[in-house]
Amino acid sequence: MIKFEKFSPPTEGEAITVEDGKLVVPNNPVIPFIIGDGIGPDIMNATRTVVDAAVEKAYSGKKKIAWYEVYAGELADEKFGELIPSDTVEAIKHYHVALKGPLTTPVGKGFRSLNVTLRIVLDLYACVRHPEKVDMVIFRENTEDVYSGIEWQQGSKEAKQVIDFLNTTMDTSISDDSGIGIKNISIEGTKRLVRMALDYAVTHNRKSVTFVHKGNIMKFTEGAFRNWGYEVAREEYGDYTITENELHDKYSGKQPDGKIVVKDRIADAMLQLVLTRPEEYDILAMPNLNGDYFSDAVVAQVGGLGLAPSSNMAKGRFVFEASHGTAPKYAGRNMVNPGSLILTAAMMLDAIGFKEADALITKGVAGAIEQKTVTYDLERLMEGATTV
Ligand code: NAP
Repeated sequence: MIKFEKFSPPTEGEAITVEDGKLVVPNNPVIPFIIGDGIGPDIMNATRTVVDAAVEKAYSGKKKIAWYEVYAGELADEKFGELIPSDTVEAIKHYHVALKGPLTTPVGKGFRSLNVTLRIVLDLYACVRHPEKVDMVIFRENTEDVYSGIEWQQGSKEAKQVIDFLNTTMDTSISDDSGIGIKNISIEGTKRLVRMALDYAVTHNRKSVTFVHKGNIMKFTEGAFRNWGYEVAREEYGDYTITENELHDKYSGKQPDGKIVVKDRIADAMLQLVLTRPEEYDILAMPNLNGDYFSDAVVAQVGGLGLAPSSNMAKGRFVFEASHGTAPKYAGRNMVNPGSLILTAAMMLDAIGFKEADALITKGVAGAIEQKTVTYDLERLMEGATTV
C-alpha cells in the first residue's frame, strides 16, 4: 500500500500495475486526477461525468473508474503551501495513469512551468497529440530542447559565467547583455521518442512517419534529431519502413502494402504543408519546441484548441491532459469546450483497455458536433448552431 505524507490514500479501487512494460488494469482502476487552474474545474467536472456515464453504459457496473484527487498548481499551493507536492508525483508513479487539468505558468518571471516540471520529474518523454479529422498524430519530444527550462536570466551571475566561458574558450562573440538558454537534444531522448512514433505507426497501420526539424540551421541538435530518427527507422524498423527515396527509386512512387514511408521536412516549410496538403502527412515526430507549435497549428484546422486531445507518456506511465491551457478569462463561467479533455479521457480509456467506453465517447462528441450542439468556440465557426 502506498504511503502519502500529506494526502489521504484513495478509499476505493485498485492500482493499475505494469508487467513487461504493459499496463495490467483491474476493473476498478484508481485514476489520480489534477483538477487544474483556471477553466480546469469547468472541463474536469464535465469530463468525469462523461467518462463515468460512458463506462457505466459500456460495462453495466462491471467496470468503474475510482477517481482519486491529487493536487498541483494553485489549489496545491492553497492547501499544502507547495505547487507540486511530492505526494502527487508519487501517486502518478504508483498508479501509472493520470488525468490532468491545465496549470498556470506566468510568462517571463516566477517559477518554471509546472507542466514542464511534471513532465521532466516523471520523465514523460513523449507528448502524443491527435488532431483527428486532419488525421495527423504528433509525437513531440517532451523533456529536452530549449523547452526544458535550462536558462539563465540576463544579468545573472550564471549567464555571465556561461557567456565568459563561451567567448573566451569557444571563440563566440555573445553580447554581454544576453539572456542564455540551452538547447540540448540527445541520442537517447530522440531515439526513444522515434521508437514510440514508429511503434504507433506499425501497430495502427499508418502510412508515413515524418521527422519535422530545423536541421538546416541547427545542425547538431535538430539535424541530429533527423539523422538519429532515420537511424532508428533503418536499424530497428527496417522490415516495416522505406525512405522516400526508396519509394521513388525502387517502387516508382507506389507505396507497397505494409510499408511505412519515413521522410523528413524542414519545420517552416512543414507549417505550410500541414495547411495546404495535410492529407500527405500522417504521423509526425519532432523535438519539443516544434511539437508545441505544430500541435496548436494543426489543431486550428479541426476546430481549435477546445478539441485537441493529448497524452504525455513514457513506457508504462501516462499523464493525459488537454493540449490547451487555463484560459483564465473563461474560468468558472462554464462555457469553454470540454471536448479536448473529454477526448483526452477517451484516449485514456483506450490506453487502459476500456475500448467500448472510448468508442461511446468519441461517437458522442462527433454526434454533438454533427447536431451543431456546441460550445461558443465551435458555434462561431458554424452556421445555425446552438450554443451550450
Ligand atoms: P490557453 O489557456 O490555451 O487559451 C488560449 C485561447 O485558446 C483561449 O483564450 C481560447 O480562445 C482558446 N481555448 C483554450 N482552451 C479552450 C477550451 N477548452 N474551449 C474553447 N476555447 C479554448 O492559452 P494561454 O492563454 O496562452 O495560457 C493561459 C495559461 O495556461 C498560461 O499560464 C499558460 O502557461 C498555461 N498553459 C498551460 C498548459 C498546460 O497545463 N498543459 C498548456 C498551455 C498553457 P478564445 O478566447 O479565442 O476563445
